[in-house]
Order: sequence, then C-alpha cells, then structure tokens
Amino acid sequence: MTTFPDLTDDELLRYSRHILLPQIDVLGQQRIRNATVLVVGAGGLGSPILLYLAAAGVGELRIADGDRVDETNLQRQIVHSTASVGTAKTESAAATLQRLNPHCRLVEIDQPLDATGLEHWAEGCDLVVIGTDSFASRYDANAVCLRLGIPLVCGAAIGLNGQATSFDFRRDDSPCFACLYPDGEDTELSCSTAGVLGPLVGMVGTVQATEALKLLAGFGEPLVGQLLTVDATDLSWNRFRFARRPDCPVCASRPRTA
Ligand SMILES: [Zn+2]
Repeated sequence: MTTFPDLTDDELLRYSRHILLPQIDVLGQQRIRNATVLVVGAGGLGSPILLYLAAAGVGELRIADGDRVDETNLQRQIVHSTASVGTAKTESAAATLQRLNPHCRLVEIDQPLDATGLEHWAEGCDLVVIGTDSFASRYDANAVCLRLGIPLVCGAAIGLNGQATSFDFRRDDSPCFACLYPDGEDTELSCSTAGVLGPLVGMVGTVQATEALKLLAGFGEPLVGQLLTVDATDLSWNRFRFARRPDCPVCASRPRTA
C-alpha cells in the first residue's frame, strides 16, 4: 500500500472541509495532494476544472492550451479576466490558480497537444481531464490513458447541451471513448460558430472536477460506463449506460474479467 507524507498543519486547515467528509478524510486528501493531473484545455470547461482542482489541493496541475485569451472567451472562461486578453491561456490560468492556491505546482504547456504531446505530458500523471471541444484530442487522450492505465474524464458543451463521462483504465470493465463513439463521428460544432451558454460550461466542468476528485481520492461511483447529459433549456439531466464493445477498434484486445 502506498504511504503518503503527512499533511502539514496549514494543509489540514486549508482542506478541512474536505477532510471532514468521511469519504475523503485525511487519506483522500493525501491522495489528492500527491496527485499529478493533466488538464487539456484552459477554456470554458477547463476554467472550473482547474479552479476546483487547484482549490482542492491537487499537487501538480499540468495545464495544456495553445490559445491566447480573446475578449470573446470572457463570457464563460472564468479563470481568465479582462487584463489577460492577448496573453497565453496557460499563463493567465496559472496566474489565477497561483493566487488561489500557492501550494499547487503548475506546469504551463503553451501548445496544442497532438497524440505525441499527449503521450509525453500524460506520462507520470494519475489522471487526465479533457476540457476542449476537439474530438480528436479526446480520441488521442483515450488511447494514451488506456495504454498508461490511468483514468480519463471527458466533457463537452455546446449551445444549451452538455455531457460528461469518465473512463477508468485501472479497471478492466471500463469502456473506452471509442466504445462510446466507435465511428469517430462528430458534428465538430464549435462554440465559436454555434454559441454556448456560459454557466453550462460551468456545470459540465464542475461535474468533471467532481469526477476527478472521486477518481483521485477513491470514493463514490464515478461515471464509468455512464454518459451524463444536461439540457439547460429545462435543466433536465439524463444518464445513458454503455459497456465495453467486443468489437471496439481501440480496446477490444484488452483483457476482461468474466
Ligand atoms: Zn473501447
């Protein structure tokens, strides 16, 4: 069993409202503090993901995004502010997060991550969270996390509709992203053309942050094999269950227990 260094008095105080939860307790907080997480995308979904993971005391956050902050981002990308327009999103996000929690190690990856980049930066991570609207990066991250045997949390939001799901490749019953989208089909709508409601990305990103903390600390039932959807029009939440596909183009050869 892995043992972790003790939390300092400062950490016990700062994270006391998490430690008070029997599901997290000191051990869960130690796991969170000792975790390294790669967050791909420091935009609408990435903002709440990064803010909550930094606030929760994740030991190292690797922030990957190749974009600069644009004025049209500010309606929903709450980790950035007006003064950051024109600067790298990674730098802007890191500055906000450092003010929020100086205990976090922040790694700025100021470039879009292709399959090779994902492979490089996911190495040594306990978890990857995807917060971009790129379908390709979710496919690439899926393959990388599967190979590394680490969990992956995905989310998407467009217009008034959002969805989130988790894959836990530490478990051999976990489906993968390609089990869910076997044909790689994607409408590739983007927020820049279709628009998106600001708080919707907040809701989906917050679901992703919740999933990340559950997977890191090891409590609750993560959305493995479940796609959670939300329609902001009437705030209806639904979940659809899915399983590993025997003919999945990505994970069919993984061992499975009966
Ligand atoms: Zn699969």
